[in-house]
Amino acid sequence: MQKFSMLSHSDKVAVGVSGGKDSLALLYVLKKFFEEHDRTKLVAITIDEGIHGYRDESLQIVKDFCSQIKVETNISSYKDLFGLGMDQAMQERPSEKMTSCSMCGTFRRRAIDIMAESVGANVVATGHNLDDHLQTFMINLLSGDTERICWMYPEPVQYGPNGLRKVKPFVEIYEHEIVFYAVLRDIPFQSEECPYMHESIRTELREFLNKLETGHAGIKYNAYNSMTKISKMLKTSSMRSLSHSKECLACGRNSTGSICSVCKTLQVLAKST
Ligand code: SF4
Repeated sequence: MQKFSMLSHSDKVAVGVSGGKDSLALLYVLKKFFEEHDRTKLVAITIDEGIHGYRDESLQIVKDFCSQIKVETNISSYKDLFGLGMDQAMQERPSEKMTSCSMCGTFRRRAIDIMAESVGANVVATGHNLDDHLQTFMINLLSGDTERICWMYPEPVQYGPNGLRKVKPFVEIYEHEIVFYAVLRDIPFQSEECPYMHESIRTELREFLNKLETGHAGIKYNAYNSMTKISKMLKTSSMRSLSHSKECLACGRNSTGSICSVCKTLQVLAKST
């Protein structure tokens, strides 16, 4: 956190908690850190994507764990925020080219911002680990989305009308180390897998990178370092494009085009019904 100046003393931090090992371990670590430094401004925010049979277990885990470690928890859903959940979006999408995880990721980023703003937080912390980060880099690289690569440098930048910052305190920690930590600390976590996860190339990339790591220990960390250097180099041009960012004509939020990705997705889904 110190390396990338992620937090300052006056920050109010909203932790995006899904019920998985990474986010619950992050909440646990931050809670301890905040107690040690006499800080109180920590809340959990949780999104229900509206995926039948998937979120029920994790919502209960989040509620129980937050009450156990005495952290305020706030839950909202895609249905509340956007008028439909993922199950409905999957039924209404015009083609499989609109993949589950790209829709879900678009909604989740916006949902987290809205929820963080609603609880008065100025920082959003998520449990993304080194493996997640590397997979996301590869996905952006393979889909030609260089703009997103700009935003992957771990030092947070302020964005949006309320100057939110996003931080990923576990970005340099391997996934298996977090599992180990969670088990050691008796942190409960969700076992159910999302039924839509196999639509994403992420699962294949995860397996590929883990296979490489098995034969060449440290290769994921080397790749992470290269990725960080590339994203840092691209960040300057990203800052330029941010200064040109517009307001979405439909919702008024920041957007690189005239309509933001959330509104575009909602419009496509509405048209196809
Ligand atoms: Fe959403 Fe994809 Fe995660 Fe399922 S696997 S919760 S669809 S991002």
